[in-house]
Amino acid sequence: MRYDVVIIGGGLAGLTCGIRLSEQGKHCAIVSSGQSALHFSSGSLDLLSFLPDGEPVHQPLEALSALASQAPEHPYSLMGEAAVRRWVPEAEALLARCGATMTGSHQHNHLRLTPLGKYRPCWLSPPEIVTREQGKPLAWRAPLIVGIEGFLDFQSSIVADALQAQGIAAKSADLRLPALDRLRGNPSEFRAINIARVLDLPENASALLAELTRLSADHDAVILPACLGLDTPDAVAMLQSALGKPVSLLPTLPPSLPGVRLHQAMVRRFRQLGGMVMPGDKVERAVLGETEKALYTRNHVDIPLRAQQVVLASGSFFNNGLVAEFDRVVEPVFGLDVHYAALRSDWSREQVLAPQPYRLFGVETDEKLRPRIKGVTVPGVYAIGAVLAGFDPLAQGCGAGVSLLSALSVADTLLQGEVA
Ligand SMILES: Cc1cc2nc3c(=O)[nH]c(=O)nc-3n(C[C@H](O)[C@H](O)[C@H](O)COP(=O)(O)OP(=O)(O)OC[C@H]3O[C@@H](n4cnc5c(N)ncnc54)[C@H](O)[C@@H]3O)c2cc1C
Repeated sequence: MRYDVVIIGGGLAGLTCGIRLSEQGKHCAIVSSGQSALHFSSGSLDLLSFLPDGEPVHQPLEALSALASQAPEHPYSLMGEAAVRRWVPEAEALLARCGATMTGSHQHNHLRLTPLGKYRPCWLSPPEIVTREQGKPLAWRAPLIVGIEGFLDFQSSIVADALQAQGIAAKSADLRLPALDRLRGNPSEFRAINIARVLDLPENASALLAELTRLSADHDAVILPACLGLDTPDAVAMLQSALGKPVSLLPTLPPSLPGVRLHQAMVRRFRQLGGMVMPGDKVERAVLGETEKALYTRNHVDIPLRAQQVVLASGSFFNNGLVAEFDRVVEPVFGLDVHYAALRSDWSREQVLAPQPYRLFGVETDEKLRPRIKGVTVPGVYAIGAVLAGFDPLAQGCGAGVSLLSALSVADTLLQGEVA
């Protein structure tokens, strides 16, 4: 099985790279062993929300020089300000070509409401998600926060209490729909994606509308957990027009419907372009020839996937793109050089919510995102996304941006025909 490029990992980074390469006629395969971070994410995408010193960022592109001086090893700093400025609008355009409608802009961050009723800055959000502009109040005076009876992954009263503390007359109430009774009987199945599969059915639309009409009579807006519109993206717009007042969604605990929907849209686009996805397969080892790489996977055993170029998009610890052993951190497919603290006691801090040093660990690269083994650049291998060293996606709010921009940067290098 021969491809121009094989990509290891089908999360946001791998899919972005595969889509860009396929759009330009490259024959690509993506091997992906499991769910990606998108399945667990808010569905909103971060570009740069905080500098490493904790200063909030309102205009991400204007903060790049401060980032470069505070964190020269950050992937944005390595790629360079000009490259970041170039790839940001390209990333927005690529998402639009996938049919992933987003609100927001790289000019300035907006704020999204979290399931805890707090606000977090971000770059792009699905249009149904509750957001507001920096410095502006929430659009509604008295929203109803709707929970679902028995659904533990979203607590409407926490959101309502937090909004009340901000001076908003929010109330919470529980939706009771007999259509959900069968699912509710099995708590481990009573999750956002399965609920959406029931609520999206046309035969349940009128009961949902009647219940929301009853509950929301004294409210100027309705905020639901993101359990609607998995395969029917206009479900929220239709409900809103029938209800006659704004309806918005809040992400729930994982699995995340907005994240899953983005993942599905990107996989669809990649396949439409002729890309091959091998879900559930895992690259276990690689033989790195001068001109050709052979990747041996769990499912294909001794028949390797062959390609001139390989892109590693295997994610961080969360997805086993990096593995922590007793006294070292390894990249398990190639054994690439990894940045990590020598002393294990320096890997984490006691305060759980503090920025954690281990989040900065990852594969070391040069400015073209070419990794090394024992200090020597590996020809034809590139690393992108969460597997990279030098950034903290949580504390700096830059996870999606690093994945998208590093993927576009490497795709461009490959399309220019530059072989390391
Ligand atoms: C729980 C969680 C929530 C997050 N929420 C947000 C958010 O709301 N907004 C935001 O901007 N960022 C968020 N992030 C940051 C996130 O890391 C990035 O946004 C981005 O989604 C990472 O994409 P990725 O493709 O680099 O890696 P991943 O999404 O981790 O994908 C890596 C993929 O590679 C596969 N893989 C690993 N090893 C192999 C192998 N050997 N063979 C084949 N496949 C392999 C994995 O199974 C996985 O599917 C979140 C991160 C986590 C962990």
